[in-house]
Amino acid sequence: MKYQAYTRHNYLKIPKIKKLGKDRIHAIEVVSSVLPFKTNNYVVNELINWNAFENDPMFILNFPQKEMLEKKHYDRLSEMIQKGTDKSDLLQFVNKIRLRLNPHPAGQLEHNVPVLNGQRLTGIQHKYRETMLFFPSQGQTCHAYCTFCFRWPQFTGMSELKFAMKQTELMIRYLKQNREITDILITGGDPMVMNASILGKYIDAVISADLPNIKTIRIGTKALTFWPYRFISDPDSEEILKLFEKVADQGMNLALMAHFNHYQELSTGAVEEAVFRIRGTGAQIRTQSPILRHINDDADVWATMWKQQVDLGMIPYYMFIARNTGAQAYFSVTLEEAWKTFKNAYNQVSGICRTVRGPSMSSGPGKIQVQGVADVKGEKVFVLNFLQGRIPEWVGNPFFAEYNPSAIWLSDLKPAFGENQFFFEKEYNKLLKIDKLPGKKLQEAEKQSA
Ligand SMILES: *Cc1c(COP(=O)(O)O)cnc(C)c1O
Ligand code: SF4
Repeated sequence: MKYQAYTRHNYLKIPKIKKLGKDRIHAIEVVSSVLPFKTNNYVVNELINWNAFENDPMFILNFPQKEMLEKKHYDRLSEMIQKGTDKSDLLQFVNKIRLRLNPHPAGQLEHNVPVLNGQRLTGIQHKYRETMLFFPSQGQTCHAYCTFCFRWPQFTGMSELKFAMKQTELMIRYLKQNREITDILITGGDPMVMNASILGKYIDAVISADLPNIKTIRIGTKALTFWPYRFISDPDSEEILKLFEKVADQGMNLALMAHFNHYQELSTGAVEEAVFRIRGTGAQIRTQSPILRHINDDADVWATMWKQQVDLGMIPYYMFIARNTGAQAYFSVTLEEAWKTFKNAYNQVSGICRTVRGPSMSSGPGKIQVQGVADVKGEKVFVLNFLQGRIPEWVGNPFFAEYNPSAIWLSDLKPAFGENQFFFEKEYNKLLKIDKLPGKKLQEAEKQSA
């Protein structure tokens, strides 16, 4: 099948689009002027159930919904668009809304970007000791856009908010100087939008750089949902699979970190075939998703999804809590609901599916899991735990927050039992102040050796 993208400029050509009616089409117009919108022929023809599109998880995953903007913003924009307001005035208001949608949650820009020889490596994030994120500049788009995406600013042309990197050489130098790194996570956007030769160049650079510490190359992708033909019938599909094989032949692991939000994404022959082909290369596929209202806020959906993934030979990995950015208000579930959904899904599947961990908040200090709500001597508390920490020693220490039924993020939580700080806060604040983060440390080391 040949890939055909639909964006706000040509989506009216989608054969079934008239089904939506005037009001919804106007809503797409309005919301997509703020948040990115892109879908494609596979999603539209094979994933969305047009007979019940209103509540269809795939429709909501891809098509902007009116409620994704605050009502007052929506109404004002809608009016401006109907009046034919000129472009620059419209864009000014649009950018004002965008900046209020917390485009960079969890300090991604300030705190995770390392420095090498005084140069900021803007295409790298290094937050957790073992794993370096790499954002190749050609992989910063996707085959379709998720309406909940926390990387949304990359797709809207707010260019100063882009992470991207062309210089492979700098990345390799950084890896050589940071030998504690065992995993490279190539991410985006979706790196699988890159053609085989470009992706191959990055991967070859890692393979041939004599980096015995690197054991795993991970690729974060939603291509299995948005374009499984990437691994089947694109002109370079065979080359992609050969590239995966090459990594395995080098004695490294290739892990495809596949994003699936609902079992409906596993329902086509194409996705089954793609998974089969990828696994045939020796690559592993691990799966992850945030929990999202209107899409998968239901334990049975998760249990079914994990079971089907395992049946196809994939490994469930993470359930995330929707980040505090973009249309979070539309998608968010409370921490308590997230935990209950996780628990009620987790306890109905076999141990083979219980490789999954969560629900987890990717916050400034680390990935924090909501282990549950407990009663400790009459005080109701959240039991929390770091699955990843800016300081590795934080991982695995249970800690407690006051129970708060409406909390949706770490920032809504207070320490339990009258404490005035969580156990990690003093250290974390110190880190932020002196900016003693991975790149900084490197910079200091360089100064000393210079
Ligand atoms: C999630 C994440 C990773 C990978 O963490 P794992 O628990 O090893 O999968 C790495 N870096 C950042 C910034 C992350 O958010
Ligand atoms: S595939 Fe990932 S990066 Fe791309 S739009 Fe979806 S969530 Fe965002």
